[in-house]
Amino acid sequence: DPVRMEKIVSLCKRRGFIFQAGELYGGLNGCWDYGPLGAELKRNLKDYWWRKTVQERDDVLGMDGAILTMKQVLKSSGHLDGFSDPMSDCLLSKARLRADQIPPQDGTAVWYSGARHEASAWSTDKAFAVLVPAGKDADSAKKTARQFYGSFMPDKKVSPKELELIEDKREELTGTTRFNPENGSLLTEPRDFNLMFKTTMGASADENDPNAVAFLRPETAQSIFVQYKNILDSNRVKLPFGIAQVGKSFRNEINPRNYTFRSREFEQMEIEYFCRPEDGLRLTDEWLESRLCFYEEIGIPREKLHILDVPDGERAFYSMKTYDIEYEFPFGIQELEGVAYRTDYDLGVHQTGSGRPLEYFDEETKERFLPHVVEPSAGCDRTVLAMICEAFDEETLTDEKGKEDVRTVLRFAPRMAPIKVGIFPLLKKNEEQVRLCREIQKTLQPWMTVFYDDGGAVGRRYRRQDEVGTPFCITVDFDTIGENGPEHQGTVTIRHRDSMEQERLPIDGLLSWLLDRIR
Ligand code: ATP
Repeated sequence: DPVRMEKIVSLCKRRGFIFQAGELYGGLNGCWDYGPLGAELKRNLKDYWWRKTVQERDDVLGMDGAILTMKQVLKSSGHLDGFSDPMSDCLLSKARLRADQIPPQDGTAVWYSGARHEASAWSTDKAFAVLVPAGKDADSAKKTARQFYGSFMPDKKVSPKELELIEDKREELTGTTRFNPENGSLLTEPRDFNLMFKTTMGASADENDPNAVAFLRPETAQSIFVQYKNILDSNRVKLPFGIAQVGKSFRNEINPRNYTFRSREFEQMEIEYFCRPEDGLRLTDEWLESRLCFYEEIGIPREKLHILDVPDGERAFYSMKTYDIEYEFPFGIQELEGVAYRTDYDLGVHQTGSGRPLEYFDEETKERFLPHVVEPSAGCDRTVLAMICEAFDEETLTDEKGKEDVRTVLRFAPRMAPIKVGIFPLLKKNEEQVRLCREIQKTLQPWMTVFYDDGGAVGRRYRRQDEVGTPFCITVDFDTIGENGPEHQGTVTIRHRDSMEQERLPIDGLLSWLLDRIR
């Protein structure tokens, strides 16, 4: 649903959730900055994950590893040689595309020349090459070309050199080739493109010095494997146990897209859960279940999640079981998290690569062996995006006079909402109301994000909070300050975002009432 997605993207910018990185200078592709509300939302997600994964479990320890990663680590892990996607260049536009997203098709390369009215669009030579899908005759080339290039790439200019190139490759391009009828791109044979960002370290860094080369980590997992032994020895833990980490990862994605879904810089929340080999499959199922509950707790209902049991042949070769947890985004069903049983592959390659023993010694059975590992690996930015997509709602309200009005509301789970409570004096000019609001704000602030607002009619202030997903709003009015008699003195109205219902609560009970609902 592209319309829904557009509305979400525009709300996120308008209300300060997400901006494109470097926007002032035209934008940095595949990178995003979280504004004030986005930063709160993301922090709530990471904090809740940490609390549930590390703090509330005896068997999982946390760590926070370096982003810059040694070449040797990534050589052993297989990333240096194998962390790549197939990439093709489009001969016409020079765009680089992920080849596996464009199915090869049968076709014939043909020249077409002399189209005057196309010439204005193409400007060169009055000629271009097109690939005619198999089964269509060459006569349809003109039509095809006009459709493809004319409507999809009207500004495209093909130089005579490019045309030569295509002419050169005509033989090669005839038969099964990569031709994308959606945008008319004509693609070279795919080649491997390594997704890691490489950098050099040190003042006298020399690209050729292997010790000067470092990489931005493509996943957080590797530092967990590398430090596994240190953590085991310094914490005297027993199998099964896990190590968890939240942090940035970097992948030079060929085509970043779908808003923040596929970015070049992103955050992951990863657990490596070490166990005895015979427990691996069972624990994979248990982690899957536990992760599904987590999504429910942050407001993503189970019906919107799909579990893909990745079939043989599509899993990494060392994985005995992999589940992808997918969410119904407006742009399609896409992966949020992978839960993979990785056997002893990772510890095995680092043991071989480093030449240092990484075995576990079981005191009871006196066995020595490499633990196996189950890895629930979630994307933080993808989950934030899923929460926003899930929360976004437009509700049509009808007032007493029958007038319709659309209310935009983000129905975040209260524990995830960036602002937990709005606080308003009914009348901005009433000093007593303002004083009380500020006092309540001070009491609540150590525990939650509070937003004070005294601008405009209260109804409008409610709507502004609805739009950013604030679950509760407190209004201090004339009853609160006893101007309408003693009956409601010391109480405030609490207005609920979802039902829009209001109730009165004593000021004294506010903190515990709210804490019960936002933890
Ligand atoms: P995809 O197939 O979508 O590229 P992946 O299977 O390569 O993802 P993993 O290597 O399993 O992803 O990484 C674990 C998680 O990290 C993913 O489930 C996803 O949530 C997140 N992630 C991976 N790549 C990106 C990215 N480019 N942008 C945002 N999040 C990402």
